[in-house]
Amino acid sequence: MLSNRMKNLHPYVPGEQPKDRLYIKLNANENPYPPSPKVIKAVAQAAKKHPEKLGLYPDPDSAELREAIADMLNKSGGVLCRANLEGGKKNGSGALVSPCEADKIPFVVTPDMIYAGNGSDEVLSFVFYAFFDSDRKLVLPEHTYSFYPVYGGFYDIPLEKIPLKSDWTLDTEKMLESANKENSSIIFANPNAPTSLGLTRDEVRNMIKKAPKDRVFVVDEAYVDFGGESCIPLLAEFQNLVIVRTTSKSLCGAGQRLGYLVANKELVEAVTTVKNSLNHFPIDFLAQQAGIAACYDAGYYVRAAQDVAFERDEFIDFLRGKGWFVLDSQTNFIFCKKDGVNGLEAYKKIKSDGILVRRFDTKGIEEYLRITVGTHEQMLSLRKAMEEL
Ligand SMILES: *Cc1c(COP(=O)(O)O)cnc(C)c1O
Repeated sequence: MLSNRMKNLHPYVPGEQPKDRLYIKLNANENPYPPSPKVIKAVAQAAKKHPEKLGLYPDPDSAELREAIADMLNKSGGVLCRANLEGGKKNGSGALVSPCEADKIPFVVTPDMIYAGNGSDEVLSFVFYAFFDSDRKLVLPEHTYSFYPVYGGFYDIPLEKIPLKSDWTLDTEKMLESANKENSSIIFANPNAPTSLGLTRDEVRNMIKKAPKDRVFVVDEAYVDFGGESCIPLLAEFQNLVIVRTTSKSLCGAGQRLGYLVANKELVEAVTTVKNSLNHFPIDFLAQQAGIAACYDAGYYVRAAQDVAFERDEFIDFLRGKGWFVLDSQTNFIFCKKDGVNGLEAYKKIKSDGILVRRFDTKGIEEYLRITVGTHEQMLSLRKAMEEL
């Protein structure tokens, strides 16, 4: 009874959400803080004042939301905060400070440069459909967001996975070499998951310069507000660049399912055409109200990101003090392992103490844990659980 297409489906496995007991959930990179009080008020008031809107189809193009996103990007400079570069650090973890002059977007972002969808997972899926083909391999890092290979299977797009370098950074040379061989597109997360490391904007610029010009180049900036450098300013230089964003991480909104992309308007139109052929109304009325309110309260999310970065750096120090190998993090999670400690055993021990972290059964990273940074109290509980490992 199944279609042939079903054979290519290898569904994404998200961080587990067990119901058997109340776990501290540090396995899906959600933000431990609630959305801003203004978001909660906006949603409550929208439902109360306009109950009729829940019975009507929402704005299919989320016009007001896209305006709010553009406004937030223009005001903030494309990123909520940046890592403190004092002391000659090139990048890397550290306290988050205000964006600097170089982070500013050198043009005005207009709503027609934004496509908004039902979580960036859906946005990414439409990106795959709109820009990648079965006739050549899509180039991506071997270890990156594990939904990309799932979409590759779904849309029948062959993949060329490029191993990371020994320091866990992207092998940009090899990725370019491979992309130029077949005139292929490139996709990666920056900062990358599950490694928590990012490329600087200059490094990405140098990469796009040498990549195929007539192929779309996708940078997924899900974690950029925790210390990465945004590539939105590069849209002034490259017509083939697509930046994907989400409200699930730094905007404390994983439950509302809102993602977006920023690109030149021809590419936005292409993705909109995919949307209108598949799901005309991807963002419900209440989620649109929540997103609009979030964009106009960026200050709240700056503080939340700073708190997350503070807890992150404290926890990295703690783990390193206990002999763990921990990569620097420009994200809201930590990627770590300890010699002599089996990854699966560590995961199980932490789970038995009531805390869920993520471990991937993937060759090369089996011994690592990916730990989402939680609140101060949650991280204290995790310290206790990991103390004896
Ligand atoms: C979490 C994450 C997403 C998915 O975000 P949603 O908007 O919740 O669908 C996309 N890309 C990366 C790299 C992520 O880590």
